Amino acid sequence: MNSKAGQMLEDTKIYEAAKYPWSISARNLLKELDVSLKEIDANAQVIQQTRRRLLQALETTEPLTLKSETSSEFVELASFFVAKVMVDAIKSMFFRRRWATAEAKRAERYFLKESDMKLATIAERNFNWQLDPKPTRIAGREFSHRLHFANYLAATAGFHEREWKLVNKRMVNGFVLLRKGDTARVLRAAVEQLLISDVKRVSPPFPPNIQQMYEELENVVRSRTERMKQEIMGEIVPEAFPPCIKALIADMAEGKPLSHIARFTVTAFLLNVGMDVDAILNLFVKAPDFREDLARYQVEHIAGKRGSTEYTPPACAYLVSTRLCVNKDKYCEYIRHPLAYYRRRRKWIKPKHS
Ligand code: SF4
Repeated sequence: MNSKAGQMLEDTKIYEAAKYPWSISARNLLKELDVSLKEIDANAQVIQQTRRRLLQALETTEPLTLKSETSSEFVELASFFVAKVMVDAIKSMFFRRRWATAEAKRAERYFLKESDMKLATIAERNFNWQLDPKPTRIAGREFSHRLHFANYLAATAGFHEREWKLVNKRMVNGFVLLRKGDTARVLRAAVEQLLISDVKRVSPPFPPNIQQMYEELENVVRSRTERMKQEIMGEIVPEAFPPCIKALIADMAEGKPLSHIARFTVTAFLLNVGMDVDAILNLFVKAPDFREDLARYQVEHIAGKRGSTEYTPPACAYLVSTRLCVNKDKYCEYIRHPLAYYRRRRKWIKPKHS
C-alpha cells in the first residue's frame, strides 16, 4: 500500500472510531495509538470535551453533540476514552446509566445517516447480530432490514411501548422486519446495554488535570444522587413500590427461595428507599437457606458499608431480561427504573399518609 493510500485508510479508521468510540475497531485503534492518560492530560481540548460530554449526559437526556460540531476526530475518540475512565472510577450506577444513554443516543443519530449495509456490518461486528439489509415491501410499508428474532428480543427487552412487542411486528422465517428508524433504535439499545455492562476496575489518583476533573465530576454526581435519595427517602411508602418489588417481597414472605439477582434487586431497592439493614434481614428470615451472618454480609455489601460502591437495583430492561419484571401496571409505561417508579408514585400516594 502506498503512503497516500495508507494515510487515507488511517483517516477513515479514526473518522469511524470517533463516530462509534465504543466499537471494537475503535478500541483496537486506541490500543494501536497507545496513548496514555498522562499524554492525554496535557491535551486541554480532550479534557474540555470529556467534561462537556459527561456534564451534558448528567444534565439532559438529549443526544450528545455530534463530532462534526467539535474540533477533531482524535479529541472525540480520546474524550470518550477518558469519559469511560471517569465513569468507571466514580462507580455510580446512576451516572453510568445516564452516560450510556447519552452515548447511545449520540450513536443513533449517526446510525440514521448510514447505509443499510453499513448498519448490518456494525450490528454483526459489534453485537454478533444477524441483521440482513434486505428491502421488503409489505402492504404498502417499506422495511430496510430483517433482524433475527432472538437478537430482537434481547435488544428490546426494556422497551415498554406496544409497537415493539414481537406480536405487533411482521416476521419472515424467524426474522423481524424493521424500518431504518427501528433498526437505529434497536442498535441504540444494544449500545446502551454494552456501555452499562462494560465495567472496569479503575481508581484514582490520575494525572493532575484528569484528577481535578474527576473530583469535580464526583462532587456533581454525589450531590445529584443525594438529591434523588432525599426524594425517595423518609417515610417508606410500600404502596408506591413497583409491582416487581411487591412480587419479590410477597415471595420472601412465603419463604420461597430467590435467585441471586432477585435478592440483589429487592435488597438494593429497599436500601435505596431508606429501609435499614436489620429490617431487610427480617424479610429474609423465612428463606430456606437463611444464615444471618452471610445475609448480613451481603446486605451490608450492597449498602456500601463493606466497599466503596453503593448499589442501586437494575433497570427495568435488565429485570425484563431476567424475568423479574412481573405484573407491570400502567405507571410502568412511563419509567425505565424501579426507583423512578417509586419516586413518582410516592409523590402521588404520600399526601394520603400525611
Ligand atoms: S416495568 Fe420496571 S418497575 Fe414496572 S414491574 Fe417491570 S421492572 Fe418493575
